[in-house]
Amino acid sequence: MEIAGVDVKDLKNEYGTPLYIYDVNHIKNIMSLYKNNFKSEMFETEIEYASKAFNCKEMIRVVKEMGLSLDVVSLGEMYTAIKAGFDPKHIFFHGNNKSLEEINYALDNNIGTVVVDNLDELKVLEEVSKSKNKVVNIVIRMNVGVSAHTHKFIVTAHVDSKFGVLYGSDDYKEMKKIIDNSKNIKFLGFHSHIGSQIFDLSAFNASIDKLFEMAKDFNYPLVMNIGGGYGVHYTNEDSPIPFDIVSKTLIKTAEDAVRRTGIKIKKLAIEPGRSIVGEAGYTLYTIGFTKKTPNKEYYFIDGGMTDNIRPALYQAKYDAEIIGKENEAHNHKVTIAGKCCESGDLIIEDINLPEAKSGDLLITYTTGAYGYSMSSNYNKALTPAVVFVEDGKSRIAIKRMTLDELIEREV
Ligand SMILES: *Cc1c(COP(=O)(O)O)cnc(C)c1O
Repeated sequence: MEIAGVDVKDLKNEYGTPLYIYDVNHIKNIMSLYKNNFKSEMFETEIEYASKAFNCKEMIRVVKEMGLSLDVVSLGEMYTAIKAGFDPKHIFFHGNNKSLEEINYALDNNIGTVVVDNLDELKVLEEVSKSKNKVVNIVIRMNVGVSAHTHKFIVTAHVDSKFGVLYGSDDYKEMKKIIDNSKNIKFLGFHSHIGSQIFDLSAFNASIDKLFEMAKDFNYPLVMNIGGGYGVHYTNEDSPIPFDIVSKTLIKTAEDAVRRTGIKIKKLAIEPGRSIVGEAGYTLYTIGFTKKTPNKEYYFIDGGMTDNIRPALYQAKYDAEIIGKENEAHNHKVTIAGKCCESGDLIIEDINLPEAKSGDLLITYTTGAYGYSMSSNYNKALTPAVVFVEDGKSRIAIKRMTLDELIEREV
């Protein structure tokens, strides 16, 4: 098996396992697909990579090279982006509970736009920007009442979400007063993000309609950011919509809304995370022991919930293959278990695979989003290396953690 022209066995020999592998050609193709299709004659467009899906310096350099903007949700993500040389003008800073340290850092580094989550935050931001004699661009995160998770979405379901402001609420009215009167806050428009791994575009159409309703309160064209959440293929249960179609559909919905309502918008923005890096990522493991119990057969791998928490966290499903045995009979129904002291440390339950021997390599697919970024050092596991492959060559993006690094901060 090859990834971006590199033999997976060579990657194992050079970098060891467990190993996160990113196909950079694939990442760039998806970014191009968005760039080429998410555009309009009626308004500006912007594509922001939601870096919480996978944020490291080398990834941010790819985002920069491809000319996308960047979403960050914390001081750490913002710091990494700045250190990677990303232009702060094109950074959007999210978060529902930004600390004073984070707000100061954002303003001192001239972060392009702050996505304001709530009234308290707006008050602090106004105070800090005034004290620094700066003007800060903001969009306000709205709770548009559309809640979407995987295949289903519900309108006006989630009024108690921890994210965003409810349109028309007392908080919203007070925020409107502040933005109308502040010299230090420059209000650009609205933001909404309705969920993740969404396959039903009508959920986004519903949130676009809501944002247009809100835009009536303003006599100038607004920025509308409709967030991320476009679904990807983990297993054959998932049938994602191709991202060129996603892009075109969202654009058309917004253009239709402009025509229908007569409300002009300045810019339509999206924030894909998972859909940019998810399917480009693989995790390579070495199989160690195997075990048969009365009702199950286990293949044990040299990683687990420490490098992929998603199955334990929300029953996420993955697909896998044993390297070099792709064409053998898949006649063993097995469970892939990690090495953590935790019964729930199962990466895949009940998958049909060929017979495995100790030392075989197992690869899991679509681990590029929320894999490395949610990794932990539980059981004092060493964080695996991350390798980028592109045009038949590999390069290290993040080195494997060493034992000394593991205890470096301990006194
Ligand atoms: C997580 C998140 C995204 C990205 O979601 P994906 O499912 O990875 O596309 C975008 N915007 C906001 C505000 C988010 O919290």
